[in-house]
Amino acid sequence: MIKRPLEAIAALCGGTMLNDSGGAEIHGASINTRTIQPGMLFVPILGERVDGHDFVSNALSAGAGGALWQRSKAVPGDLSAAPLILVDDTVEALQRLAANYRDELDLLVVGVTGSNGKTTTKDLVAAALSGSFRVHKTEGNLNNHLGLPLTVLELDESIGAVVLEMGMSEFGEIDFLTRLAKPDVAIITNIGESHMLQLGSRAGIAKAKLEIVAGLRPGGLLLINGDEPLLLEGIRSAQLPEGVEVQTFGLKNESRWQAENITGDAVSSLFDVKGVAELQRVALPVAGRHNVSNALAAIAAAKKLGVPADVLRRGLERLQMTSMRIEPVRAHNGAMVLNDAYNASPTSVRAAVDLVAGLTGYGRKWLVLGDMLELGPQENEMHGEVGAYITPLKADAVLTFGALTRHTAAEAAKHFAAEGLAGRVRAFDDKTELTAWLQAQLAPEDLVLVKGSRGMRMEEIVHALQRA
Ligand code: ATP
Ligand code: MG
Repeated sequence: MIKRPLEAIAALCGGTMLNDSGGAEIHGASINTRTIQPGMLFVPILGERVDGHDFVSNALSAGAGGALWQRSKAVPGDLSAAPLILVDDTVEALQRLAANYRDELDLLVVGVTGSNGKTTTKDLVAAALSGSFRVHKTEGNLNNHLGLPLTVLELDESIGAVVLEMGMSEFGEIDFLTRLAKPDVAIITNIGESHMLQLGSRAGIAKAKLEIVAGLRPGGLLLINGDEPLLLEGIRSAQLPEGVEVQTFGLKNESRWQAENITGDAVSSLFDVKGVAELQRVALPVAGRHNVSNALAAIAAAKKLGVPADVLRRGLERLQMTSMRIEPVRAHNGAMVLNDAYNASPTSVRAAVDLVAGLTGYGRKWLVLGDMLELGPQENEMHGEVGAYITPLKADAVLTFGALTRHTAAEAAKHFAAEGLAGRVRAFDDKTELTAWLQAQLAPEDLVLVKGSRGMRMEEIVHALQRA
């Protein structure tokens, strides 16, 4: 953040100074005393279990240049002379501060939403832009009503372009984030099944993602996944701001940006962008057709922002992925392990099954799947459907961990049993048991893909395989 007096921060967030700041200058903000650095603004969040106001003293001792303070709470005696900004609501004040600060900045903004692939696409866009701009991006997965404003407050005049991930679980959330971010380019990676409970249907999910158009700047570009009929349909009734253009990207349909001749292995992909002579045999250091789709969105975004084809291609080749997204690592015995344990939903597990199905040159191909959480009342069926999608042609063995993936195992087992391979599917309730069983069978030439919802911590299996 560009440095400024605490008084200026108070004006930007609509608060009032409790005391004179003593000349304190602020750059950046944090909601966590562990990440507070000298000169930062501390923003206490009133949570259900923890109240950040209890840590304001600590934050100031750690060097914070000032802190917000929610008016409804009495200021304790030891803080009566502290550099505090009184606000009605600290979260709203943080958001207002970020929104006003963003309006001061002259830089390009790319917003990324979608059910799956937001973080990956964010990394791909940043890579594609990196040869032409000094790029900042959402760190990790900080994509919500706190993470996005905090990311905006990390920007300064040296940054030419920022890539912001936008997550949501309810209607209205993307609308809010996009109006704050005011993107020049907005991307919707795909539509899956996450948050079905809140949004009612896949059409509802598409509608919620399409809220991203609300903040697009005039002359901006909306990029949608052209392989998703619900997005193509939803865009027809969306209220597009003046001068906004819509382009599609995809692997299947006639999209504006289409990939063809996709090849690859466990650690990379190669593809041609149809009809673009300079973008043939583009190399990505990551596997999976779904990542080729994500890369198309990144290419389209970079083109819109004026990055030459050879520059964006080199940027993509140097991609730095956030970890646990099909991250290739080696088991202790040399077997290839794809650590995709960051998260899982039916769409993303099917994408992972397709990836494994397409890989050749390995001994046995193992799918190690943990439960997909937060799917709502249809969760058993959805786990079963994923299992039904797995056949002996796609993978050689399936190991599951958790109560829900028992349904996955049961459905997959039907296909395997039909080929006399029933023993190749096993459901476990204990991770250590699963790992031991796998280690006993795993050959150095094998390939293992490990995936599950965040809460299942499937990376523990990966780490055990690396160690043993
Ligand atoms: P979150 O909602 O947790 O922030 P995200 O949308 O940021 O997730 P990523 O972290 O990029 O998604 O990827 C999560 C998983 O989704 C990946 O490991 C991959 O399996 C899958 N995935 C990525 N891109 C796609 C895509 N375009 N279509 C389907 N699945 C995808
Ligand atoms: Mg993410």
